[in-house]
Amino acid sequence: MHPTRTIFAKEFEQLLDLQQVRDALFYLKEDNEQTTKDQIEITEVEAPPFHETNRAAFFKDKLEVFSLEDLKIDSEGNVYGIRKGKGNGPSVVIAAHLDTVFPAGTNVSARIENSIVYAPGIGDDGRGLAVLLTLLRSLDENKIETEGDIIFLADVGEEGLGNLRGMKAFFSENTNIDGFISVEPGAPGDLIYCGVGSKRYNVTFKGKGGHSFGDYGTSSAIHAAGRAIAALADMTVPQNPKTTYNVGTIYGGTSINTIALDAGFQLDLRSVSSQALTELEENALALIHEAAQKESEACGQPGSITVSAELVGDRPAGSQSTDAPIRQIALRAADVLGIEVTMEEPLSTDANVPISLGIPALTLGGGGDSGGHHTLDEFFDPTDAFYGPQRILLALLGMTGIKDNVHPLLPMREKK
Ligand SMILES: [Zn+2]
Repeated sequence: MHPTRTIFAKEFEQLLDLQQVRDALFYLKEDNEQTTKDQIEITEVEAPPFHETNRAAFFKDKLEVFSLEDLKIDSEGNVYGIRKGKGNGPSVVIAAHLDTVFPAGTNVSARIENSIVYAPGIGDDGRGLAVLLTLLRSLDENKIETEGDIIFLADVGEEGLGNLRGMKAFFSENTNIDGFISVEPGAPGDLIYCGVGSKRYNVTFKGKGGHSFGDYGTSSAIHAAGRAIAALADMTVPQNPKTTYNVGTIYGGTSINTIALDAGFQLDLRSVSSQALTELEENALALIHEAAQKESEACGQPGSITVSAELVGDRPAGSQSTDAPIRQIALRAADVLGIEVTMEEPLSTDANVPISLGIPALTLGGGGDSGGHHTLDEFFDPTDAFYGPQRILLALLGMTGIKDNVHPLLPMREKK
């Protein structure tokens, strides 16, 4: 066994020695069916991108019955409340996102076949939201008093052009957070501790246009875009930290015998390192501007092609050490439950924002089997799904500690 795997073994033994903790874990198993019911109910309240208001209000109502202080909907649309700790422990956020990728009017009603639930958004992130509720029930019913505070958060703007706006707003208002867990659909062993950052651009070239024969020699927007794409395709990027680029779509021109007036493409840049991402972005933008200039000059018409690069996607990147206590706590929590951690690939999730700010953060799988995410055929199989919340509960309790019994394992950050 890897030597680091013995980290926190003693502390987790102490945790599991507590009857309360064992009861709370058992409660989660018994609560599996109710959790699936919640998941369906939440999923059936539409939450299109930038229109999460109805689901936010619905979810806030669900939270009202628990022992949360300062429960509110903030100005960005995030719902959150604090389950107060009893002492001097770290403040840990547990979050799931309210938004889906589905536009308004999508049929989100659930259909159950052979105990598998089908509905757009049932996994991503209906699962995460339902997990927050079962965790709260288990903590309250078993009267668990933690040392640190736990903030339960349902956030907006995780998907697509939401660009993590919910997370950005939350962390600009809350500077006292010591740790963060995002719950996404996935196996109970999923453990993501590095965030893939991305920058996305709509690039547009414009020229004067003209007839392909009569106006021959006039600079072409398509030729400029072609020069740019060829130059981008020759860029070299580091393999480690993993850094990538892709021109995903192109458009332009009017007809085969017209010199193109306009042309453009969409460019996606990604890296797990924010420095590598910034360097890639600078290089790419320089090549794009150079291509416009080259096309203009090749035709002897300096400045005849203009180019604009509009930033349409912006997600921060960040990595953490494999030794980071937050990762070790989550590994140990999985170990003691006999759950194998098999998936640690970097992803782009809500956790990107805290990781980029230097706040320890993870994305953990909510349990159950799900698939077809972001499609109308999305499904969720609730069989034994409770292993997800069980692992998350143990990780949370390891981080925050238990009053008078278990010392918090997650260090507190120095506060500004
Ligand atoms: Zn998601």
